[in-house]
Amino acid sequence: MLGPVILAASRSDRMRRLISAAPVTKQVVDRFIPGETVDDIVPIIEDLTGKGLELTMDVVGEDITTPEQATAARDAYLALIDRIKDLDLGPKVEMSVKLSMFGQALPGGHELALANVRPVVEAAAAIGTTVTLDAEDHTTLDSMFAIHEELRKDFPQTGCVIQAYLFRTEADARRLAASGSRVRLVKGAYKEPAEVAYQNKHEIDKAYVRILRTLMEGDGYPMVGSHDPRLISIAQELARTAGRKLDEYEFQMLYGIRSDEHLRLAAEGHRMRVYTAYGTDWYGYFMRRLAEKPANLRFFVRSMVTKG
Ligand SMILES: Cc1cc2nc3c(=O)[nH]c(=O)nc-3n(C[C@H](O)[C@H](O)[C@H](O)COP(=O)(O)OP(=O)(O)OC[C@H]3O[C@@H](n4cnc5c(N)ncnc54)[C@H](O)[C@@H]3O)c2cc1C
Repeated sequence: MLGPVILAASRSDRMRRLISAAPVTKQVVDRFIPGETVDDIVPIIEDLTGKGLELTMDVVGEDITTPEQATAARDAYLALIDRIKDLDLGPKVEMSVKLSMFGQALPGGHELALANVRPVVEAAAAIGTTVTLDAEDHTTLDSMFAIHEELRKDFPQTGCVIQAYLFRTEADARRLAASGSRVRLVKGAYKEPAEVAYQNKHEIDKAYVRILRTLMEGDGYPMVGSHDPRLISIAQELARTAGRKLDEYEFQMLYGIRSDEHLRLAAEGHRMRVYTAYGTDWYGYFMRRLAEKPANLRFFVRSMVTKG
C-alpha cells in the first residue's frame, strides 16, 4: 500500500527538498548510494571487481530541466570513464544511463538525449565496455527504444532495459530477442496506471517468467535484473533448458541489496553484475528503493525520529 505513495513523493519537489535536507538522511542513503564523487567510487569499483563481481555504474540524476544539466550529465559519465580506463577492467564495468538525465524530456529532447548519450557510448566502447539504457516511466519508452536501435547500428553491444509490469513488454522482448540485443529484464520501479501495467505482484512475476523465457530462447544476451530468489532459480532453469552456458547470460542486482547473494552467485561461476549508483542527485533513486520494501521506509523514519 505504501509503495505508490512513496513513488508519488519521488516526483514531488517539495518532498525532495524536505528529505534531501534532513540531517540524518545521508546515513540511510549510503546503504544504496555509496559515494558522491568519482574519488569516492573508484575504491568501491576496485573492491567489488576484486571480489569477482562485475558492475554497471549509474551517475544518479533524472528529470533534468535545462540543456546545461544534460551536458553536465554527459560530462559526469565521460569523467568516470576517463578515470577507470587505467584500471583496465573492460566489460567488467559498464555504464547505465537514464535518458531523462540526458535531456529526453526537454523540447527537442529525443535528438538532444541521443546527441548527449552517443559520446558516452563511444567513450565506453573505446575502453572495451558498453552502456545500457535504463527504462523509466512508460511515456519515455518509445523514444528510449528508438535511441537504443540507433546506437546499436554503430555499437551493437548497447543494451536496454524492459519492465515486466508493462503490458507492452512481451512484444518488446520478442523484437529485442530476435535482434540479438543485450536486454536487462526487471519487474519495474515506477508508478504506472492500470491501463498500461499489471498492478498485482503475482501477475508481474508471471509476466517476468514468460518474458524471461522469450529472452533465454532468443538470440540476444539476457541480463536478469532481480533480487527475487524464486525468479533467480527459475532463470537458472530456463537458461539450462535453452542450452545457454554460464557466460551467455548474467544476473544483475542493486548495490546494497542482498549483497551475500551477489557473492554466492559469482562464486558459483555466474556473471553477477552489481548496479552501483553514485552522485549527489540521489533523491529519485533512493525513493524508489524505499518504495520497493516497506521495511526500508520504517528504518528510514525510525532513524529520523531517533536522531530528532
Ligand atoms: C540491476 C537492476 C537494474 C534495474 N533497473 C531498472 C530500470 O532501468 N527501470 C526500472 O523500472 N526498474 C529497474 N530496477 C528495479 C526493478 O524494477 C525492481 O523495482 C527491483 O529490482 C525490485 O524487484 P525484485 O525483482 O528485486 O523483486 P521484489 O519482489 O521487489 O524483491 C525480492 C526481494 O529482494 C529484496 N529487495 C528488493 N528490493 C529491495 C529494496 N529496495 N531494499 C531491500 N531489499 C529489497 C527483498 O528481500 C525482496 O523480498 C532495476 C533493478 C535491478 C536489480
